[in-house]
Amino acid sequence: MPTYSYVCPKCGRRFDLFHSISDDSPKQCPACGETAQRQIGAGVAWNGSSSRSGLSSAPPPPPRTGFT
Ligand SMILES: [Zn+2]
Repeated sequence: MPTYSYVCPKCGRRFDLFHSISDDSPKQCPACGETAQRQIGAGVAWNGSSSRSGLSSAPPPPPRTGFT
């Protein structure tokens, strides 16, 4: 079974889960309980400078407040 990376859209927490590929049920953020979004593929960065129209399905970048 592959490992999936998730990111919380609320607090920006990133975590990995190890589950079946057929398991697409919502996963909750371990920090705040918000439903996390699965990141497809490794190295995907939502905070890239590319803002092409047509990629409206991409979630907004997580908030980065609270970090130095
Ligand atoms: Zn969270």
